[in-house]
Amino acid sequence: MSYKAPVEDIDFVLNEVLELDRAFKETKFNGTVDKEISNSVILEASKLAENSFHPVNALGDSQGCHLNNETGKVNVPDGFKAAYDDYREAGWSSLSAPEAYGGQGLPLVINCALNEVFAAANISLSMYSGLTHGSIVALKEYASDTLKSAYLEKLVTGQYSGTMCLTEAHCGTDLGLIRTKAIPSQNKELGLQMFEVSGSKIWITGGEHDLTDNIVHLVLAKLPDAPNGTKGISMFLVPKFLPDCSKNGVICTGLEHKMGINGSATCFLSFENAKGWLVGEPHQGLKYMFSMMNSARLMVGMQGLGLAEAAYQIALSFAKDRRQGRSVTGAAEPQEQADCIMVHPDVRKMLLQQKVLIEGCRAMSYWVALQEDLAEHAQDAQDREDANDMLALMTPVVKALLTDHGSLCCDLAVQTLGGSGYTKDWAVEQHYRDVRISRIYEGTNGIQSLDLVGRKLARKGGKSIQAFIKMVQSQIDLEQDSLIKEKLTHGVSVLNRALGWLMKAGMADKDQAAASATAFLKLFGTVALAYFWSLSAMTAEKKMAQGEKSPLLTSKLKSAHFFFAHCFPEVDYLIQAVEAGNDTIRVFELDEF
Ligand SMILES: Cc1cc2nc3c(=O)[nH]c(=O)nc-3n(C[C@H](O)[C@H](O)[C@H](O)COP(=O)(O)OP(=O)(O)OC[C@H]3O[C@@H](n4cnc5c(N)ncnc54)[C@H](O)[C@@H]3O)c2cc1C
Repeated sequence: MSYKAPVEDIDFVLNEVLELDRAFKETKFNGTVDKEISNSVILEASKLAENSFHPVNALGDSQGCHLNNETGKVNVPDGFKAAYDDYREAGWSSLSAPEAYGGQGLPLVINCALNEVFAAANISLSMYSGLTHGSIVALKEYASDTLKSAYLEKLVTGQYSGTMCLTEAHCGTDLGLIRTKAIPSQNKELGLQMFEVSGSKIWITGGEHDLTDNIVHLVLAKLPDAPNGTKGISMFLVPKFLPDCSKNGVICTGLEHKMGINGSATCFLSFENAKGWLVGEPHQGLKYMFSMMNSARLMVGMQGLGLAEAAYQIALSFAKDRRQGRSVTGAAEPQEQADCIMVHPDVRKMLLQQKVLIEGCRAMSYWVALQEDLAEHAQDAQDREDANDMLALMTPVVKALLTDHGSLCCDLAVQTLGGSGYTKDWAVEQHYRDVRISRIYEGTNGIQSLDLVGRKLARKGGKSIQAFIKMVQSQIDLEQDSLIKEKLTHGVSVLNRALGWLMKAGMADKDQAAASATAFLKLFGTVALAYFWSLSAMTAEKKMAQGEKSPLLTSKLKSAHFFFAHCFPEVDYLIQAVEAGNDTIRVFELDEF
């Protein structure tokens, strides 16, 4: 079944809920980015996603990537190269990249919408360019001008792609354990001192492939004088091909066999005295990698959202067609042998759960991406700082909540199709497998929760979470719908209660806060979704009061009511899960598991 980009809802979020033209008034985008621009960009990109990326999605899954052991080259699935070239030639890789390096300088929030659409159409193919964006962010921020002029423009135009080489067999989450070494060499290239990098990295996305002329690896490694742990990590730029076009000592020794994203080459890379340059200062690699990972975390959130949307479209289309049983209140279509399964409340509920999680997460994540633009481009320094604080607070929430809900929605889509959902005849089973990794890479969702609770809440004395609560309070004051007003008020009180518990119990014993972190993130994320449902419904009502009418607008208030009735009550369970802390966990001895 074909995928159709949800352009109407994307337009609604960008231009009505977030009011991009108003949000950008005090930025460099004032007067240049409006509804017309954003809609034409989204429409054009959607055509490419639907007509180039999506048609090779299932083939990519069944064919996978192949390593030629003799040449060390990896071939991506058939059709991927042509689709990637279409993408690159149309300029999509450079959309929000800086103009100084050949980019088009459009807002990241528009790019965020494209990330959703391309991931939905073909997550595996979208990853080759997705990680490149992170490399651009890190190099732009920290690399020397020489490295920038040698590599940035080619990354921006998609002629080169980028990787993130962190993981080793013995270290994933705990990067302080990295063993890859970098030794200063006597040689210079591009007028800069070279280093020889040696070690083995595993599971490197896009580590080797035939889509681009060169691959720029950003490698975490340790210098000979490195302090122990994460303080001793440096970042190196190690290209597949050196400036003289000779092949560098980066060898793909294998490909991982995985449950999903089979068209994405997940590589074992051996660095054998590979030549590279230090990026920025020695021993600052982890900080640099985080700038790259923050951008990648939002992108992974969009993968969760995109695949949820793609699976929902299939589930909805199936449910509108499939006939089984009769409505419990009597035959809806007596002339037919059976009613359409859309008559069954349980089926409708599964579909509506997908719909409200998807639309709520879309509004929330695009708003977070907008903070990224404001953090960089707002004219006022205080506005930049406030947006940056909000971005820092919300990044782990977008990554974890959207990928958890992405997995849940794909699961519900499989369930909606019944046995058909479990078969290869329908693409939902691929989406269900593909989406699962999004909860693991770029820092597992457990680690996102610890980041939120351990770092982001307390940052600057809790300024950002208080600003968030203030924003919700203002919405409560504006809300006219008594049910939504009451629920949102309850959400704030439960959130405050959870924060109070974390402050008290977590300060006394850090394991208490760690045990509650995933429940807290979900609680916070659910209150954030509640805020965006209130805002979306109010926006739709306002438009209808002005005489506009469409199923999208009429469905928003109904969807908000469904969300508050069927999804929001989870906060009452989650507050109990937060307050349960570590007491019933820590009592277990190892042999009692
Ligand atoms: C398909 C795929 C693509 C990938 N792409 C890349 C890539 O491009 N570049 C790259 O460098 N890596 C990549 N990775 C690696 C990925 O980022 C790691 O798998 C991930 O960070 C988790 O590390 P790990 O698998 O070693 O799990 P571990 O770190 O061993 O964790 C195992 C479990 O323990 C938990 N845990 C670990 N430490 C803590 C802690 N301190 N507190 C609480 N819980 C903890 C984790 O949440 C997890 O549930 C990829 C992996 C896959 C499968």
